[in-house]
Amino acid sequence: MKLPFIIIIDDDPQVLRAIQRDVRSKFREEYKVLAADSAVEALEAIKELKLKKETVALFISDQRMPQMDGTTFLEGAKEFFPEAKKVLLTAYSDTEAAIKAINTLKLDYYLLKPWNPPEEKLYPIILDLLEDWQNNFIPQFQGIKVIGYQWSPLSHRIKDFLTGNLIPYKWLDVELNDEAKELVNTHKIESAELPCVLFEDDVLLKCPEEIDVAKKIGLKSNASNDLYDVVIIGAGPAGLAAAVYGGSEGLKTLMIEKKAPGGQAGTSSRIENYLGFPSGLSGADLTRRALTQASRFGVEFLSPCQVVNINTKDNYKILSLSNGPEIKTQTIIISTGVDYNTLDAKGMSELTGAGVYYGSTTAEAHSCKGKDVFIVGGGNSAGQAAMYLSGFAKNVFIVIRRDSLNSTMSRYLIDQIDKSKNISLITDSVVVEVIGKNSLECITLENIQTHVRKTSESGALFIFIGAKPTTDWIQLDILKDPKGYIETGRELFKHKNFKKIWKLERDPLLLETCIPGIFSAGDVRAGAMNRVASAVGEGAMAIKLVHEYMAGL
Ligand SMILES: Cc1cc2nc3c(=O)[nH]c(=O)nc-3n(C[C@H](O)[C@H](O)[C@H](O)COP(=O)(O)OP(=O)(O)OC[C@H]3O[C@@H](n4cnc5c(N)ncnc54)[C@H](O)[C@@H]3O)c2cc1C
Repeated sequence: MKLPFIIIIDDDPQVLRAIQRDVRSKFREEYKVLAADSAVEALEAIKELKLKKETVALFISDQRMPQMDGTTFLEGAKEFFPEAKKVLLTAYSDTEAAIKAINTLKLDYYLLKPWNPPEEKLYPIILDLLEDWQNNFIPQFQGIKVIGYQWSPLSHRIKDFLTGNLIPYKWLDVELNDEAKELVNTHKIESAELPCVLFEDDVLLKCPEEIDVAKKIGLKSNASNDLYDVVIIGAGPAGLAAAVYGGSEGLKTLMIEKKAPGGQAGTSSRIENYLGFPSGLSGADLTRRALTQASRFGVEFLSPCQVVNINTKDNYKILSLSNGPEIKTQTIIISTGVDYNTLDAKGMSELTGAGVYYGSTTAEAHSCKGKDVFIVGGGNSAGQAAMYLSGFAKNVFIVIRRDSLNSTMSRYLIDQIDKSKNISLITDSVVVEVIGKNSLECITLENIQTHVRKTSESGALFIFIGAKPTTDWIQLDILKDPKGYIETGRELFKHKNFKKIWKLERDPLLLETCIPGIFSAGDVRAGAMNRVASAVGEGAMAIKLVHEYMAGL
C-alpha cells in the first residue's frame, strides 16, 4: 500500500533539518516525509504527486519565506489536496497572521518555534491531526455501498443513519452512476427493492430499516448487565459527557441513543466556539472523540434504541425500550435534548426526505452541487448550515421571518455569511408551499409585510426552525414547564403539586427532577443554555450528583 505524504517547507536549512528529523523519527513507518526549502518548488512537487495519484496527509509550512509566505503556499497546496491538514510554523510575532489563517484558510494548527521537547509540543499535535485525517480519508473505496434513488426518503434515512453513526459509505445514485447500474445488474436488484445496502462481505440488504443496518454493522441493541448505577438516555453532548464522567469515575454506566450519537451537535458541520478548538471542529469529530473516550472507560452504548418509558420500583428505576427487554438502574440521567419544529407549508409531507430535510446537511450536501438551495431559520444552526452548503451549492438563500439575523445568530457567523459571495438573506418571509413531482423542484415564499408570493426553483430545502423538548415519551409524572422542558432543583418548588410528589426530607439536588435519583441535563432541561459547552457541563455535573444521591441511599 502506498504511504501518504507529510510535506514540510522551510527556507531556513537548520530549522528544516530539525523538523524533518523530528517528524521522520516518529512518523516514518506510516508516512513518507518530504522536505523542501522553497515553497515554489514544493508546489511543483505537489502537482506531480497529484498526477501520480499519491495522497498527502499533512502540510507543515514556515510562515516567513522570501518567495512566498506560508499562508499563500498552504492556499496553493490546498487546491491539490483539500483534505490534507495544514500547520503553520510561526514565530511569536506571526501569531496574528496565523489566527487570520484559521478563518481564511481553515488552518488546522499553528506551531510556535521552537517545539522542544517534541514529545510534548510536536508529536501530540501531529498525531491528533493525522488521526483526524485518517478518520475522514477514504482511499479506494472498499466499504459499505448504498445504492438507490436520490429522492427516495428511505435512501435519505439510510444515508443519514450511516452519517450520524460515523460509518463511512459510498452513495451510488442508480440513475446517474455506472457502478450503481452494474451492481443492480449483477445482484439482480428490482427497482422496488431499492435502496439496497451492500456490505464488504457481499451481504446485500434490500429496502432495509435502520435497525437491520445497525445489526449488520455491529451496533449493540441489548444491554449486557442486569443492573446499572446510571443509565443515560440520549447521546448528545450532555449524554456523552455524562458517559465519560460516569465511566471514568467507576460507575456501571449505560448510554442509550434512539438515532445517532452526537445529537444536534452531531449534525453541525463546524462548531467554532467550543473551548480548546480554535479552528473549530465538526460535530462528527466531537462525537467520535467523545464516544472513543466513553468506551475507553468501559461505558456500554446501545444504538439505535429508543427509551419509550421509565418507571420506579422501590429504589430502582426501570426503563422500557422500543426493542429489547427492560433495564434496571439505580439512577437515570435524561438528556434527550430537543427536536426541530416541523414546518407548516403545503406539500411538506410529500417531499420530506425528497429534497426537504430537517436539520441534516452533511448527508445531502453533495446532491446540492451547482444548485440553488434554501435554508429556513435564523439561528446559529441555520448559519452553520448555510456556510457549509455554500461550499457545494450555486447559491444559498436563508429565509427568515425577521428583518435581520442580528438578534438570533452569533456575530461571527453573520460576518462569515456577509463575506460569502453565494449566500443571500431573504427577510420578512415564510415558506408557504413546496412543489415537486417526485422530489422538490420549487418553493413559494410569501413576504409577510406585503403578502407578495414568489416561486423559485430549488434543489433542496433545509429547515432549522426552533425546537421542542423531547419529553413526550415520558409517562412518569415528571414535572415540566408549560413548554414541556423538565424542571429540576430549586425550580421545582414553584410547582404547587411538588410537595405532593416529593417525599424526602432533603431538597432535590441541582439537576434532580421531582423523582429522586432521576436527573436531567442539557437542552431538555428547563432553563438550559442551548450550547454544546453548557450541555457538556451539565452532563458532567449530573454524574457528581448521581454520586451524592447514591451516597445517601
Ligand atoms: C446544526 C446545529 C449547530 C449547532 N452549533 C452549535 C455551536 O456551534 N455551538 C454551540 O455551543 N451549540 C451549537 N448548537 C447547539 C448544541 O448542539 C446543543 O445545545 C446541544 O447539542 C445540546 O445537547 P444535548 O445533549 O442536551 O441534546 P441533543 O444534542 O439534542 O441530544 C439529545 C439526544 O437524545 C436522543 N434521544 C431523544 N429521545 C430519546 C429517547 N427516548 N431514547 C433514546 N435517545 C433519545 C436524541 O436522538 C439525541 O441524539 C447547534 C445545534 C445545531 C442543531
